[in-house]
Amino acid sequence: MKKVLAFDLDGTLAESKSAITPEMAEVLCGLLSHVHLAVISGAAVEQMSTQIIERLPCQGDRLSKFMLFPQNGAALLVSKNTAGYETIYEDLFSKEEGTKIVDALELAFEPPFNLARTGPYGDIVENRGGQVTLSGLGQQAPIEKKSTWDPDQSIRMRIKAALDPLLPEFDVKIGGMTSIDITRKGYNKAFAIGKMLEYLKIDASEALFFGDAVFPGGNDYSVQAETTVECIKVSNPQDTLDRLHAILSTYEEATRAASMG
Ligand SMILES: [Mg+2]
Repeated sequence: MKKVLAFDLDGTLAESKSAITPEMAEVLCGLLSHVHLAVISGAAVEQMSTQIIERLPCQGDRLSKFMLFPQNGAALLVSKNTAGYETIYEDLFSKEEGTKIVDALELAFEPPFNLARTGPYGDIVENRGGQVTLSGLGQQAPIEKKSTWDPDQSIRMRIKAALDPLLPEFDVKIGGMTSIDITRKGYNKAFAIGKMLEYLKIDASEALFFGDAVFPGGNDYSVQAETTVECIKVSNPQDTLDRLHAILSTYEEATRAASMG
């Protein structure tokens, strides 16, 4: 039996930037009685809170077993209750680093890329503290628009190629559907998984990771490539939900068996 279940967020627990469904919220709360849970995402903690934590019907002590790794693992926060988090670690950019990255991103608004600097869907560039994110259509773009903007990543691969030489001391990563995430070197889901095992003082064999992009070039692939944690590639949040129902039944059965001696 695993001691921790770790997840990607968008496309795995929820649709991109959307809240988890009530069914997902219920099964996650059920699992918290048996295991630790962790979510690793390029999102900011506020976004993760809105999408997940605020939707959970369970509150109180059980939530302290829920770990959030925002910004590709540049920080770890543990829920205390819906109103607050304890920061276990956080690696923020200096003012100079943040400015340097935001300045470099100016090239996305110039030829040949010509992204709209402002649009109907919110900020294009956001400094999240330990990560700067460029969202091609804006932070709040609807999923229908996002899914058709750069499905083969070709726009973002060209922007990344232009950014890499300007920001050699940082990692420029292609994120979810429309984003480019820039962090200090080494932050990715594998890094966060390492921090998670260290925080829980458990072995990689006691963890399980779920992601919709566990394939070469996908933003969940580092877990498979760089750790020995077992990875499950899911097709969508419904697929994850079905698998979690099955896992929860296993835990509940084991608990019942144990109580019957
Ligand atoms: Mg995903």
